[in-house]
Amino acid sequence: MKGQRMSGTVAAEFTRLYGAEPHGVWAAPGRVNLIGEHTDYNDGFVMPFALPHTAVAAVARRDDGVLRLHSADVPEPVAEMSVDGLAPGSDKNWTAYPAGVVWALREAGHAVTGADIHLASTVPAGAGLSSSAALEVVVASALNDLFSLGLRGRQLARLCQRAENVYVGAPVGIMDQTAAACCEAGHALFLDTRDLSQRQIPFDLEAEGLRLLVVDTQVKHSHSEGEYGKRRAGCEKGAALLGVDALRDIPYDGLEAALARLGDEEEVRRLVRHVVTENQRVERVVELLEAGDIRAIGPVLVEGHASLRDDFRISCRELDLVVETALASGALGARMTGGGFGGSAIVLTESTDVPAVTKAVEEAFAAADLTPPRVFEAVPSAGARRLDRLTGAGSPAS
Ligand code: ADP
Ligand code: MG
Repeated sequence: MKGQRMSGTVAAEFTRLYGAEPHGVWAAPGRVNLIGEHTDYNDGFVMPFALPHTAVAAVARRDDGVLRLHSADVPEPVAEMSVDGLAPGSDKNWTAYPAGVVWALREAGHAVTGADIHLASTVPAGAGLSSSAALEVVVASALNDLFSLGLRGRQLARLCQRAENVYVGAPVGIMDQTAAACCEAGHALFLDTRDLSQRQIPFDLEAEGLRLLVVDTQVKHSHSEGEYGKRRAGCEKGAALLGVDALRDIPYDGLEAALARLGDEEEVRRLVRHVVTENQRVERVVELLEAGDIRAIGPVLVEGHASLRDDFRISCRELDLVVETALASGALGARMTGGGFGGSAIVLTESTDVPAVTKAVEEAFAAADLTPPRVFEAVPSAGARRLDRLTGAGSPAS
């Protein structure tokens, strides 16, 4: 199995680097959001599922306050630091992600006294598939086991979010870390970002003869961060004008009344309409999947794309081209996923139509003189897990 092979390689490389065997090997996945876009900072619903792509870490605990970090994917020597010296904002390198996790655990009162870590990841970085959360969660899972902290997936997710918000300095929501920590194979995760309640929703594509393609457009338009801030501020303005804590509090059947109250605030009206209808789309997808009707979510995905394109206005030419081409060549549904202005789109299709849909999208990109997209299949996979039990600290005698 691919995971086992990667586990062996990472463990062997650990031993070469540090001169001793790791105490264990852990994995945590990247994710794709099926539906529920730009709802997280409005206290709304999201529905990610885990990818087969994972960050894999071989780890040994230490009790002398030393933290050593190495990534197979970065051409840099082992970084060494003291756990007592970890300080938010002090590290601009990739090491801030794992070091931030150690910092967040210690801040929360957990006695993490050092570690040697070597990792490698098959989650492409910066493609909107959450390589950063995979990195954080794999490290947190390893330390949770090795120091017998007894933390549950959602607690680890919170600490990893804190590591990224405070230590790395990236204002991210809770979805990515929760997906990496809590997803289950063959399921999507219905997550309420207000109270963090969650439910595993059956999403076994293979059993239904279906496939979900991720089409990475490989573009990231430079204005994306500023536009994200504007959308977020616009949503907050909408909530304030409507007198609610968050747009989550506007029920779908209260949408028309809410829009009427916003009068001539045209831009805010569009943002509010997206968020309220998107939360309802997540609930519809949950209902359809729980009823076993995966095919029926296709049109809901397409509605979601139209809402992001026309109301939230964060799509772009490349993402629209994927969606239009996929639908025209027989896909059941498609939409952009992630923050927008580039990144990836997802396409739901009959497995027999995968070659035709893929070819149509590739040809459309070539005809439009665009960089060829990267297309791969996303099988709903497991969240964080220990891959094997080797000898040493934290492992039960075998
Ligand atoms: P995303 O999470 O969408 O992939 P981010 O910008 O949030 O993008 O996180 C990407 C960053 O995570 C990289 O710039 C790097 O610092 C870190 N990272 C991801 N994967 C690895 C890896 N395999 N090795 C080292 N650092 C990694
Ligand atoms: Mg990230």
